[in-house]
Amino acid sequence: MKTSARAVVIGGGVVGASTLYHLARIGWSDVLLLEKSELTSGSTWHAAGGMHTFNGEANISRLQKYTIDLYREIEALSGQSCGLHPNGGLMLAATPGELDSLKLICSRARYLGMETEMISLEEARNLNPLIDTSHFIGALWRADGGHCDPSGTTHAYVKAARQLGVSVERFTRVLSLGQRRDGTWDVVTDKGTVHAEHVVNCAGLWAREVGHMVGIELPVLAMEHHYLLTEDLPELLGRDKEIVNTTDYAGEIYLRQERGGVLIGTYEPHGIVWSPVKTPDDFSMQLLPEDFERLAPYFEVGFRHFPALGRVGIRKAVNGPFTFAPDGNPLVGPVRGVRNFWVACAVMAGFSQGGGIGLVLSRWMAENDPGQDIISMDVARFGAFATPKYTSIKVPENYSRRFRLAYPNEELPAARPVRRSPIYDKLKAAGAVMGANFGLENALWFAPQGVAPAETPTYRRSEAFPVVRAECQAVRRTVGLYETTNYGKYEVTGRGARAWLDRVFASRIPKPGRFALAPMLNPAGRIMGDLSIACLAEDRFLIVGSGFAEEFHLRWFMASEPPADVSVRSAASTLNGVSIAGPRSRELVQHLVRDDLSPSAFRLFQVRETAVGFAPAILTRAGFTGELGYEIWTTPDYFASLYDDLWNAGRELGLVHFGGRALSSLRLEKAYGSFNKDFRPDYTPGETGLDRFIDFSKPDFTGRAAALAERAAGPKRRFAVMEVAEADADVVGYESIMKDGAAVGYVTSGAYGHCVGTSLAAGYVPATLAREGARLEIDILGEMRAATVRLEPLYDPQGLRLRS
Ligand SMILES: Cc1cc2nc3c(=O)[nH]c(=O)nc-3n(C[C@H](O)[C@H](O)[C@H](O)COP(=O)(O)OP(=O)(O)OC[C@H]3O[C@@H](n4cnc5c(N)ncnc54)[C@H](O)[C@@H]3O)c2cc1C
Repeated sequence: MKTSARAVVIGGGVVGASTLYHLARIGWSDVLLLEKSELTSGSTWHAAGGMHTFNGEANISRLQKYTIDLYREIEALSGQSCGLHPNGGLMLAATPGELDSLKLICSRARYLGMETEMISLEEARNLNPLIDTSHFIGALWRADGGHCDPSGTTHAYVKAARQLGVSVERFTRVLSLGQRRDGTWDVVTDKGTVHAEHVVNCAGLWAREVGHMVGIELPVLAMEHHYLLTEDLPELLGRDKEIVNTTDYAGEIYLRQERGGVLIGTYEPHGIVWSPVKTPDDFSMQLLPEDFERLAPYFEVGFRHFPALGRVGIRKAVNGPFTFAPDGNPLVGPVRGVRNFWVACAVMAGFSQGGGIGLVLSRWMAENDPGQDIISMDVARFGAFATPKYTSIKVPENYSRRFRLAYPNEELPAARPVRRSPIYDKLKAAGAVMGANFGLENALWFAPQGVAPAETPTYRRSEAFPVVRAECQAVRRTVGLYETTNYGKYEVTGRGARAWLDRVFASRIPKPGRFALAPMLNPAGRIMGDLSIACLAEDRFLIVGSGFAEEFHLRWFMASEPPADVSVRSAASTLNGVSIAGPRSRELVQHLVRDDLSPSAFRLFQVRETAVGFAPAILTRAGFTGELGYEIWTTPDYFASLYDDLWNAGRELGLVHFGGRALSSLRLEKAYGSFNKDFRPDYTPGETGLDRFIDFSKPDFTGRAAALAERAAGPKRRFAVMEVAEADADVVGYESIMKDGAAVGYVTSGAYGHCVGTSLAAGYVPATLAREGARLEIDILGEMRAATVRLEPLYDPQGLRLRS
């Protein structure tokens, strides 16, 4: 066995094999894959091999398409068959909600260039004659997908990688990992020690244990999963084509042809966690005992929806474990605080996602950049809140919902509440309907007296629509309070703080007492964040960004190597905040502070430390609604008092609560983009319009060369807000934007603009179409709706209210 390698990949399942292949393909030939048993011996060997391009996230969908297309390449390189059956996919809807969801998938697929169509039930039955169509109301067909041979595919990756010079050691178990002072690793195995620059955890069912080797707790857990193989069906005899792989949402069933019979699997509502605390070392190429009694009711639904299956016997049953993260997407990337350690685990759809994961991870390792936005599968989307208890509750919830459609207005109930601010109970008492962001409860909208604080899951407008309208109008008319505790907050202090921030952020770093909007770029000039920086003193800064991205941003800050005289600390749990917005907000805040808040004394983008009522606080004149507004930050011990003071003073001014839904509407009326929705590492300053906050006169900041090059060439596409012809649904995200029948862009977020009286969609369109009044169309739930580009914000285009 080699004693040194540039990278050691732990695990020879489909994910480790793909990672090995992609590292080899990017030019890293000095890579060693270590597998404790035979290749595929974890969860890979007994997989059903199904592959598809469906994912709620467009970029993951794209990577799934890449994975499926890749199989021809590795077959050709390796001479090893992947056993491909590219027979496409069929999705069946039994309820109007499911049908809407299929229409949304169809709209999204247009821009992604994936051949997808809504088809009639008759056509669906031609593709799969086993369907009893009386149970369904609609169907979607997609060309991509089918199934492959799990073992053949894994071996094809490994053989192709070996031809590029990498090494594989089977029956070699990694026992421990020791980090040297220079950040390299001693990988201790039962066959000796390998010295490696990088280590990749692709240990699948044992990913949690490999995480423990470096002192981290990855939010990953295995669930048992059953599928059945039937005897041959007469209905399939003599057909010249296999039936199309079929997903039945109502029945929570998937099925595909396996020789003359069918493979049918279910994701039952009360799934069983496998090895909740420790995965057995000696588990290898094993199956788990079948549990027909428990599963019979769920398979029976399948036998009703596909009656021919009930008329033949079961040839074989498979029960095997595989792993999930709390939200069902993989965990990929570097881990903050553990240098040169990478993860690619919790992959529940290895045959749809393995290739894409290998691709982005290899780029990330070789080029320090995954090359595209992958936040939704980045390990950094979880933070300290994802404890083993959280994971043990969320993973079964996710498993039980694998084939339930996720509605855009739906908040999943398991493991809630985890993180609560000191005013949680007060907001609940005021009717708050809560969502969870990075484990923290935050108010989405406030049910008034007589309205139930709950919402029907739907793709269309819900009962919250008129309530959100009232919240928006009240903010614009009088004054509203929105809790901002769920924003990401960081304190940067020390003598070198300004110089370091100057290098990390593309914007001007504000002087003491000032606040600035601050885009942050990667070296390729892509948006890593749009944050704000408040300078409290020459050596003390408060940075505020997206709460969802807290771990993502902290990891980026740490990778930007703050020098010894700079301290960077998350203030996630040490600062709470509220935003006070609306024309009467000055009056309200002035009631509680001694400082003069008149327009000339405390201007837009000023910040000061002062007392607000009882609370020592940081007071900023800023906000995200386009109205005159303030953000107030204080520590948790004062926060409830601050809230009470504001509420008592605000009552006579018409103070209302508003939630996240109203904020989305208010910000889009002002054409403000939001990180993680509209601004992501896929986009550039020129495309997003964030270039107006860049200080190009600074001699050196991350991404400067790329941003300058873009400024010279001009962006090819642009972020734009569109006015959309009204119906009973607004955009959700990733719908295709069409021009003359061709998909030219896609939606990133949307809402109804309650104070401008129109439905709004934000997204990216070619620069040539980003002109006032350009006429486009957006496919919303199967209807082509007129969309008109509006270059100026629809609300208060001159910003007079903000500056008032
Ligand atoms: C019944 C069933 C049906 C499924 N059907 C599908 C499907 O239709 N389509 C689909 O895409 N996915 C399916 N899956 C999921 C699929 O199996 C997984 O996504 C995939 O196998 C994950 O691969 P992996 O490489 O991450 O993990 P694993 O296959 O678990 O591989 C991890 C490897 O790491 C090795 N290892 C662990 N620790 C060490 C160590 N310390 N030293 C050395 N080696 C180590 C293990 O021996 C193992 O071989 C199914 C799973 C099951 C159980």
